[in-house]
Amino acid sequence: MATLDRFARSFLLAEIVSGMALTLSYVFKPKATISYPHEKAPLSPRFKGEHGLRRYPNGEERCIACKLCEAICPAQAITIEAEPREDGSRRTTRYDIDMTKCIYCGMCEEACPVDAIVEGPNLEFATETREELIYQKERLLDNGDRWEAVLAKRLELDAPYR
Ligand code: SF4
Ligand code: SF4
Repeated sequence: MATLDRFARSFLLAEIVSGMALTLSYVFKPKATISYPHEKAPLSPRFKGEHGLRRYPNGEERCIACKLCEAICPAQAITIEAEPREDGSRRTTRYDIDMTKCIYCGMCEEACPVDAIVEGPNLEFATETREELIYQKERLLDNGDRWEAVLAKRLELDAPYR
């Protein structure tokens, strides 16, 4: 009986017909793929992309040059130099991140006591040379300024879990 059943299924191409029916059923379902880069998938608030350095609303840099991010970075990608200002506050004179070393672990962000260094929403920063991936303070501050609204919202959403 089993042999007869197998023969009938083979003769009537039952597997092919059921396979085609399954394929056809997906034609009318919403597409699971998107046309990147013209369409973008939603990003989690916890997404860890290109870094930025944030400022306070009055324009002052948040970073107090405590170097906790530099110390915790497992890839040793961060280099900081600092000097006290005339008013006695400490601020960085150099803040570099070697993005070719960075593993986007987010530990610099976790360690920062003033939410200065953050990983932003940008994932499209491929370059043609390695030198372009050595980020200096000015570039990081520019990133922070550009994404401040997104970064602040993202930190707010993540606050209950930190
Ligand atoms: S994300 Fe991780 S590897 Fe990259 S700079 Fe921060 S601590 Fe270092
Ligand atoms: S970014 Fe944050 S952790 Fe790093 S030196 Fe500045 S204040 Fe300290």
